[in-house]
Amino acid sequence: MESLFAEHDFLDKSSGNNFADIILPVPIPRMFTYKIPKNLQPQIQIGLRVIVQFGKKKVLTGIIGKVHNKPPQAYEAKPILDILDHQPSVNPLQIRFWVWMAEYYFCHIGEVMFAALPSGLRLSSESKVQLNPNFDAETSKYPLDVREEKILEALEKKDELSYEDCEQILGVKTIHPILKSLVAKEAILIFERVQEKYTPKVETRVRLHPDIVASKAALEAVFEAVQGKPKQESILLKFLRDVPVFQRPQLNEKGVDKATLLEEGDSESSLKTLIKNGVFETFKHVVNRIEEEAAEREASELSSSQQAAFEEIKTHFETKQTVLLHGVTGSGKTEIYIKLIQEVLESGSQVLLLLPEIALTTQIVGRLKQVFGSQMGVYHSKYSDNERVEVWNGVLSGRFSFVVGVRSSIFLPFDSLGMVIVDEEHEPSFKQFDPAPRFHARDAAIMLAYFHQARTLLGSATPSFESYFNATQGKYGYVEITHRFGDASLPEYHLANISADRKKNLLKLDSTRLLREKIQNALENQQQVIIFQNRRGYSPYIQCEDCSWTGQCVQCDVSLTYHQFAEELRCHYCGYKEKIPQACPACGSSQLTTQGMGTERIEESLSLLFPEARLGRMDLDTTRNKYGYQRLLDEFAAGQIDILVGTQMITKGLDFGKVTVVGIWDGDRILNFPDFRAGERAYQQITQVAGRAGRRDIQGQVVIQSRNPDNDLFGKVIRGDYFEFFRQEMIDRKKYYYPPFVKLVKITTRHADAKTAQKAAHALHHQMANIAVKKIVLGPEKGIIVRIKNQYQFESLIKLDKQGTTQAVFKQSLAKIIEELQAVPEFRSVRWIVDVDPS
Ligand code: ADP
Ligand code: ZN
Ligand code: ZN
Repeated sequence: MESLFAEHDFLDKSSGNNFADIILPVPIPRMFTYKIPKNLQPQIQIGLRVIVQFGKKKVLTGIIGKVHNKPPQAYEAKPILDILDHQPSVNPLQIRFWVWMAEYYFCHIGEVMFAALPSGLRLSSESKVQLNPNFDAETSKYPLDVREEKILEALEKKDELSYEDCEQILGVKTIHPILKSLVAKEAILIFERVQEKYTPKVETRVRLHPDIVASKAALEAVFEAVQGKPKQESILLKFLRDVPVFQRPQLNEKGVDKATLLEEGDSESSLKTLIKNGVFETFKHVVNRIEEEAAEREASELSSSQQAAFEEIKTHFETKQTVLLHGVTGSGKTEIYIKLIQEVLESGSQVLLLLPEIALTTQIVGRLKQVFGSQMGVYHSKYSDNERVEVWNGVLSGRFSFVVGVRSSIFLPFDSLGMVIVDEEHEPSFKQFDPAPRFHARDAAIMLAYFHQARTLLGSATPSFESYFNATQGKYGYVEITHRFGDASLPEYHLANISADRKKNLLKLDSTRLLREKIQNALENQQQVIIFQNRRGYSPYIQCEDCSWTGQCVQCDVSLTYHQFAEELRCHYCGYKEKIPQACPACGSSQLTTQGMGTERIEESLSLLFPEARLGRMDLDTTRNKYGYQRLLDEFAAGQIDILVGTQMITKGLDFGKVTVVGIWDGDRILNFPDFRAGERAYQQITQVAGRAGRRDIQGQVVIQSRNPDNDLFGKVIRGDYFEFFRQEMIDRKKYYYPPFVKLVKITTRHADAKTAQKAAHALHHQMANIAVKKIVLGPEKGIIVRIKNQYQFESLIKLDKQGTTQAVFKQSLAKIIEELQAVPEFRSVRWIVDVDPS
């Protein structure tokens, strides 16, 4: 990774530089070079927002990405028109990270910027002007001139104006000096996307008038005045109960939220009277959307094996930037993280902890919050944009020195990271598929840490082979914990033979006798059960028994998925949906049956097999809203659910003491992953699900149902022989050229016309043959899904030699080739999607 990164002169702030490269919010491949006028040179800094002319007419806001002395060769540089900020809104380390990401993941830096900035802070290609809500013309220190007033008047009528609108209103050619002056006078805000702009949350609060707090006599007078007016008296008493100002006068300052004061049915008009009479006053208060929670507990005492691991990690960090912590499920990795985080925070540096999907790991977030309280920020994927901006600003202001977040939290404005921890580093969901940048958050995090001179800790019970390989090569430090915390033992595995049971008539509703017995036993002992069904490659669909008709998406070449709950057929690729037909649209038969086994069907089967058990289901459908997941978890934790059926979601970090049985409904489906990572993924998935069982004193039981119980992979998982498994897989990967021995790049060629798509894919293939680096090019082949959203796709897979400058040379040449192909009239609307390190 390092070799790819050529040192840029990012940090060069010395004046006397004549050119700046600007990151613009437009779909162009690179930064644009502008001239720095002499008068602006002393203020120029990386990360500042500037106004520039783009093309003939457009005026845009961009961010300074680089300053240097090299004039562009292909065009005459235009001057920067103006600087917008006193302080950079993005720090140089962030820019450096963006540049790396655009280069490495083969995308435009504008795309990285778009992904990195929450939309409340984003620049838009249509820069807009709005009134500053805090501006008051009457009290402002700065007088406005006629033209400025004209703009403000226009803004009062219309919420937002574009630069062009402003130019028209005043009949001038260059509007920016006027807008700049208005910004300086705090009269307007610009360059935010108005429809998504950040709005602070404001509440109205009530407090006693300061004169009353100042003297006891005044209060007595007030009580006298409200005598015989029970409504007013009630409000006054309620206030004094909530805010005991006479014990602690300083409490009055903060007052109480007006809505809270009135929530017990007190009358608003009585409160108004009290305000009018000078008893109370109201004021506006900006509240944090993200609540403050104080720390509640100390970190746990580490067990001796945890302590040993903790010390080992620190020793490795003396010589290695990255350490892999390989600890079996339930070994207590979180507690080790806590100790490390505490040390880093005490040294004054920041910490980022990445989790696969935070909504899905509320348990770990809760545990961390108890220890770190309000200095910990949480960056959720289900957060609103306003909440994200608040975390962003919290990192900037130092309110959050520690952030727990999903993959996009690598873009937060950290300026002094000391450590980045990636928990469950093997998780495929760390990779972003769409849109660009198609980054892998674990790999990007390692790079981010490198830029900050920080350390990276990767944690997993089932490390990715890439990371494990790096550990065996000595590139990463390696620390292992082989037992669970406390007395908990690892679970016992059983293979249940579906075919054999079917022959003997023991299979009931797709469940084997063994699985039924284990579930029954758990239920009788008031224990809980988790049933897992792999979602990938699976979708229930409807089929006609007479003519085998199945529902197809009208835009994509895929079968529509059956959604029992909504009584619909849906396309999982484009969202197309239709009602379930009453009769077969092809032959008119009414014999339509459901095929495939979804979590819904399993839930149904279990309810027939165990009518007395309370069932819960956790999948995309039941957790779509923000609290669905949390509610199910709470119910399960409270023992209101006996059997929880779920997809991948239930494997992630759940820690429930009463779960003793885990059933894997269709073990074979886990093996059928159409990819060189099939074995690795299967190993990880089975071990992770199994890891939910028996996490306290009773040993867990794991039942894997399969038609091929003799498959060697099951044996390896059951023996827990990770290293042996890894060793054998490496032999194959080396022989057939797969990662970690090569770098993969996948290129998808897309077009609405199948012939054009194919032709373009072949043209690309021929051109790539001329790139003089060590490589293997496979394809182009039809995509796994041939047509998606009415676009045909062809895929090429390139395997690159890992040595030297191979990747950099390849990517540079590829960029040129794509640019040239795009200039061919026939290929103008062809799209090429480049995915580096696809997964
Ligand atoms: P992992 O993430 O490695 O699977 P966890 O961090 O979830 O494991 O720990 C498993 C369980 O053991 C949790 O319930 C946790 O609270 C408990 N635990 C782990 N270490 C300690 C410790 N040092 N003191 C008290 N409880 C611990
Ligand atoms: Zn579709
Ligand atoms: Zn039919």
